[in-house]
Amino acid sequence: MSDLPKPLNGHAASEALKLGSAQTPEVVLKGFQRTEVWVFDLDNTLYPADCQLFAQVDQRMGEFIARYLGVPFEYARHLQKSYYRQFGTTLTGMMRVHRMDPRPFLDYVHELDLSGLAEHPRLAAAIERLPGRKLIFTNGSRAHAERVAGKLGVLSLFDGIFDIVDAAYVPKPAAACYEAFLKAHGVDAPTAAMFEDMPHNLEAPHALGMTTVLVRSDSNDDHPVHRTMRTWTVPPAHVHHMTYDLAEFLERIGPIPALVDAPSTQRS
Ligand SMILES: [Mg+2]
Repeated sequence: MSDLPKPLNGHAASEALKLGSAQTPEVVLKGFQRTEVWVFDLDNTLYPADCQLFAQVDQRMGEFIARYLGVPFEYARHLQKSYYRQFGTTLTGMMRVHRMDPRPFLDYVHELDLSGLAEHPRLAAAIERLPGRKLIFTNGSRAHAERVAGKLGVLSLFDGIFDIVDAAYVPKPAAACYEAFLKAHGVDAPTAAMFEDMPHNLEAPHALGMTTVLVRSDSNDDHPVHRTMRTWTVPPAHVHHMTYDLAEFLERIGPIPALVDAPSTQRS
């Protein structure tokens, strides 16, 4: 893996190149000059996909569906993936097609062994130095977000969590989900940045005027979009920035208050 975040477009690329290294963050990356609200997806974004935590969620969803519908596990997995692609989350498909009560499902799928998830002090430091509010915006449950963010050592840095219950079980990437999020937390979209591992979940943020960052991993392969991403020569326009390392990317955004308030601190 490169030690540079992998920029998506020409401008982002040139800005990243200007940065040179994490030790010389004089340039604020495009789109972050007026960012006041930092919005993070949880699963496979705040923690990397290769720690396999979401793989546990994935497995437990299959188990729950098999038991709930009384079908073989393999068929439950087929339904699970089909609903995930069709409705945005497996849960939404189960609610719409099978009228399932979401609460036992959410409790079961988020009962995880977090022992493989390490504390991430570098990420915590990078999030802490961002100016303004920080929010978690997840298609999962609040309890899951609190446990995972707590284990990472970043929970206390966040000002709020918007979960699938807050979204009235309408998940990302539905436009209504983002509108509900912005309203609930009083966020003015052009002053916000959104970090996500699924590119289609950045389409609405881009359309709303948010700055978008794709937190990418090539170890994940449970959605057709992962194969699509591997064919990208140029990322789509709704992905403004892309990185394989969230902590490093946040470090590279630049000292925003210093640039705005004290330009003399910049090197010549
Ligand atoms: Mg995610």
